[in-house]
Amino acid sequence: MAQVTVVTGGSRGIGAATARRLARVGHHVAIGYRRDRAAAESVLAELRTTGVRAVAVATDTRDPEQVVRLFDAAAALGQITGLVNNAGVTSPIGAFVDLDPADLRHVVDVNLVGYVLCAQQAARRMTTGAAIVNVSSAAATLGSPGEYIHYAAVKAATDTLTTGLAKELAPRGIRVNAVAPGVIRTDIHALSGQPDRPDRSAGRIPLGRAGEPDEVAGAIAWLLGPDASYTTGAVLRIAGGL
Ligand code: NAP
Repeated sequence: MAQVTVVTGGSRGIGAATARRLARVGHHVAIGYRRDRAAAESVLAELRTTGVRAVAVATDTRDPEQVVRLFDAAAALGQITGLVNNAGVTSPIGAFVDLDPADLRHVVDVNLVGYVLCAQQAARRMTTGAAIVNVSSAAATLGSPGEYIHYAAVKAATDTLTTGLAKELAPRGIRVNAVAPGVIRTDIHALSGQPDRPDRSAGRIPLGRAGEPDEVAGAIAWLLGPDASYTTGAVLRIAGGL
């Protein structure tokens, strides 16, 4: 059966790398993005060169109606077999005492409410053999002191979402796993005010460097694929030893 996978936040970073990798192994792909249509179109053009069917849908994952539209567009490509719950945000890096409530709510809305809404659509539409991968973070266990503790706490919730959903969907033959990246070289660091964070972090990472988006994408593709047929409820750390 053809694989049809939804990748939220597929216009850049880990999501774009994942969409490219999945297309290379034959998945038809529906990518969501929030506002950068040009970036999404560029990823889409690359996906189509592999011969797969692909669509890009402007989808703010905080909005249940927009999430339904993304999944409807994916379903038009064929039976949905995969979801990569990836669209995520951090906040300006800083001390916990300075956290702005608006930033707190934004992180909870995108990284938790958005993931739940997308997983719900997936769970309603998927059948045996399908799989979900939630993109969590090594922050979930590190706590991110002095940076963004609220983000780390929400990523811990992602791990719990993964555990519960894996158990609830297992009787239907649907697997649910997570990846927990460490410091990965994407635009997310510039958006949190520290574009050089990947290089500055290298010294505290046992492997001595930040990771690349494709190094996370490879793990996501494995978790979605047949070699992970007995893997569910796992949180796979991809953090260079952090
Ligand atoms: P990124 O480069 O900043 O890309 C984020 C993606 O999410 C973009 O496509 C963005 O779309 C989309 N997005 C943001 N808000 C959205 C919303 N409300 N609705 C729908 N889409 C939205 O980030 P990344 O580093 O690849 O991160 C991807 C995931 O990995 C996130 O869940 C992040 O928490 C996690 N992660 C990243 C790292 C890291 O070091 N990079 C480490 C651990 C975990 P627009 O461009 O249109 O806004």
